[in-house]
Amino acid sequence: MPMSDSYRKKLSCLLPKIVDTFGTPFHIYDEKGIKETCKKLNTAFEKIDGFKEFFAVKALPNPSIMKIMQEMGFGFDCSSTPEIHLSRQLGSFKEDIMFTSNNTSISQFETAQKNGGCILNLDDISLIAKLTDIPDLICFRYNPGSRRKGNKIIGNPVESKYGVSHDQIIDAYSQSVKLGVKRFGIHTMLASNELNYEYMVDTTRMLLDIVEQICGKLDITFEFINIGGGLGIPYTPDTNPFDLDSMTIEIARIFKEFKGANGWAPRLYMESGRYITGPHGVLVTSVINHKNIYRKYVGVDASMSALMRPGLYNAYHHIHIHGKKESALLEKVDVVGALCENIDKFAVQRELPATVKGDILVIHDTGAHGHAMGFNYNGHLRPKELLLREDSSVELIRRAETMEDYFSTLTFEPETLTFEEI
Ligand SMILES: *Cc1c(COP(=O)(O)O)cnc(C)c1O
Repeated sequence: MPMSDSYRKKLSCLLPKIVDTFGTPFHIYDEKGIKETCKKLNTAFEKIDGFKEFFAVKALPNPSIMKIMQEMGFGFDCSSTPEIHLSRQLGSFKEDIMFTSNNTSISQFETAQKNGGCILNLDDISLIAKLTDIPDLICFRYNPGSRRKGNKIIGNPVESKYGVSHDQIIDAYSQSVKLGVKRFGIHTMLASNELNYEYMVDTTRMLLDIVEQICGKLDITFEFINIGGGLGIPYTPDTNPFDLDSMTIEIARIFKEFKGANGWAPRLYMESGRYITGPHGVLVTSVINHKNIYRKYVGVDASMSALMRPGLYNAYHHIHIHGKKESALLEKVDVVGALCENIDKFAVQRELPATVKGDILVIHDTGAHGHAMGFNYNGHLRPKELLLREDSSVELIRRAETMEDYFSTLTFEPETLTFEEI
C-alpha cells in the first residue's frame, strides 16, 4: 500500500486545520514514518559489520528532514556544490559525505576537497587528474556495461553516462595507488525504484567479485563497497513492498563467504533516497475547476512544478480525496494542473470519487524526487513543504516560492559586452 494507514489516519484528522492555516498546495512529510523507515533499515543491516546509509540528498534536500537522517547516524550522498554546502551547514563533514558527481568540474572538486574534504566517488578515470590534492581515500563508480541489465529509470548500463567501464577499472585503482592514495572504496548505482531485492543482491555480488579481481592484481584492500540507492517503493496499492529482510539475509551471507575466502571484508554502504522518504510525503492540493469536454477534467491548484514524476516518467501516484470514501460513486477523470503542457497531469483516466470545488486531493508518495524535482517553466512556482512532527505539531519547513523569487535572477547590475565596429 502507498502512504501508511497510520499516516493517513493521523493526517485525515488534522488536514482541515492544516489547510486552513497554511493554504494549499503543499507537500507534507511524516516524521514518524521517516524515522521508522530509517530504523528499519539500520536494524535490517545489523547483520553486516559497519553498515552505513548515505541519504541521497537530491531526493528531499530539506535541512529539517536531513537533521532526522543525521540523528539516525546517516551520512549524505551529494552530487552538486549546493548539496555539499547543505550537508556541511548541518554539521556533516569528511567521511559523512559521499560526493557522487558526474561530468564534474574542477570547481566542484575544489568545494568537495575543502573543509576537511569528503569521500570522493569518481565517475571516470580521467577525473583523478582534476583533483586539487591527492586524497587519502578514493572511490570509483563502476559501470559493468553489458554484464548487467539496468532498469526503466536509469537505463541500460551500456547506454548510461555513469561510471568507469569494466576494462578501465583496474587501471583506475592502479593509477591512484601510484599517486599515493592509500584507502579505497568502490561504488555502483544501476537501478532506481527496483522492487526485486535480488537485483541488489546481484549488485553486491558483482562488486565483491570485482573487488577480488582488483585485489588479485594490485596490493590493496577495500574499506567499503557502496551498492547505491534504488530500492523501490510500491506506488500502486496492489504492489508488494520491497523485501528488505530477504535482501539483507542474502547480502550478509555473501559477505560471510567473502570474509571466509579473503580473511577480511569491506564495510557496506548504501545511498537510498526514495525508500527512506518516498512513502512518507504527500502533495495536498485543492480542486479549483471541473471541465467536461472529450474527457472529464479535475483542475487542482498544484501543477507539475510541484511533482514532475507523472509527466516525466508516466509514473502512477495514488490519489485519495480527503473525507470521501473510496467506495463512493466513481468517475473517470484526468487530474490536471495549470501548465501549458498536456503532460501536466497528476492522473490520467483515473477512477475517483466525484468532487466539488474546494475538495482536497491527497497525492501519495511524494516524499522523494517530488518537490525537489520541481521547476519554474511557464512561470509556475514551487509550493511550500510542511513537516508533521511526531507530537502532531506541523512546521513550515520551506515557504512557497514567490514572484520575487521568480524575478530575482532578472534583478542585477546590467553588464554589457561592447565591440568596436568591425
Ligand atoms: C538518485 C541517486 C540515488 C538515490 O536513488 P533512489 O532511487 O532515490 O534510491 C543514489 N545514488 C545516486 C548516485 C543517485 O544519482
